[in-house]
Amino acid sequence: MIEFTNVSKTYDTGNRAVRNINLRIRDGEFVFLTGRSGSGKSTLIKLITRELKPTEGRIRVNGYDLGTLRQRDIPRFRRSLGVVFQDFRLLNDRNVFENIAFAQRVIGASPREIRENVPEMLQLTGLSAKYKNMPFQLSGGEQQRVAIARALINKPAVILADEPTGNLDERNSQEIMKLLLDINRMGTTVIIITHSGELVRSIPARVIVMDKGNIVRDSDNGVSERGISAFFTDYRQPKERWLSSASTHTSGNPRAVFREEAESGAPLKEEYEEFENDEFEDESVPWFTDRDEDRVDEEKGEQA
Ligand code: ADP
Ligand code: MG
Repeated sequence: MIEFTNVSKTYDTGNRAVRNINLRIRDGEFVFLTGRSGSGKSTLIKLITRELKPTEGRIRVNGYDLGTLRQRDIPRFRRSLGVVFQDFRLLNDRNVFENIAFAQRVIGASPREIRENVPEMLQLTGLSAKYKNMPFQLSGGEQQRVAIARALINKPAVILADEPTGNLDERNSQEIMKLLLDINRMGTTVIIITHSGELVRSIPARVIVMDKGNIVRDSDNGVSERGISAFFTDYRQPKERWLSSASTHTSGNPRAVFREEAESGAPLKEEYEEFENDEFEDESVPWFTDRDEDRVDEEKGEQA
C-alpha cells in the first residue's frame, strides 16, 4: 500500500513540483500515472522510492513510514520496490544473465539462489535463449525486458515504471505492456508513468492525471482491490485494439509468446555457464541514479 497525506515537494530552485497530494494505491492495483511533461510525475515516483523527501506531508509505502525511515534501512525498504526506466539503465559491460543476477547479488543472495532465480526470470520475460547476450546485442524491447526481470527478481510488492515504453516502437511497447499486465496478474502492484493517451486508453486500469503538481483526475474505480485480473479474460480477445494492431504474435497470450521464443534455444538449468561471483555494495545500485537527499546533505556537511 502506498499512501500520501498532504504531500508537497518544492525543489531547492523554488519549483513546486508536487502540491498537497493525497493518494492511496492498494496492493495489487494497476495504475497509470499520466499528465504532460513537467506535471510532477517523476517527482511523485521519486518520493515513493525515497530518492526525494517531501517538503511537507507524510508518505507510507509497503508498511514503512518514509518520514522516520533511517538511512541504514533504506536498502531494505527499496527491496520492496522494483524500478524500470525509459532508458533501461542496464550494465552495458555485463551480459543479460549478469544484469539480472546483479539485483540478487546486492541483496546478498547465494550463488545457488541466483542459479535458481535468474533462469526463472529469463523464462518469464522470454529471454532464456539470450542469456549470454550483451545489452548492445538486444533490441530495445529486449533490453527493457531485462530491466523488468531485474526489477522483479527480488519479488517486490510494487513495480514502478517511469515511461517504460518511451523509447520503444509500437510492437515492443505492446509486449512490454503485456508483460507488466502479466506481472500485475501474479499479484504485484504496477504503477506506470506515461504521457501516451493511446496507451492509457488501451487498458481499462486506474488512471491518475497530474497537472502542475496536482492530481486533477483519479479514476479510482473499485476494480483495484483485485488488480485488473478480471479483465484478463477479455484482454486476450483479438477484438481488443491493443492486441490486434501491429502484433506479429497470434496466440494473444503473453506467456505463450515468450515461451515460444524461449523454447527456440533456452538452455537447461544446469547448462547455464558459470558466472562471476563478485560482490557489490548496496550503495552501488545503479538504477537509483539520483543520490538520495540525506547523503547529499551529508556530503555538503563534509565539504563545509
Ligand atoms: P514529469 O515527470 O511529469 O515530467 P517532473 O516531476 O520531472 O515532471 O518535474 C516536475 C517539475 O519539477 C518540473 O517543473 C521540473 O522542471 C521540476 N524539477 C524536476 N526535477 C527537478 C530538480 N532536480 N530540481 C529542480 N526542479 C526540478
Ligand atoms: Mg518524468
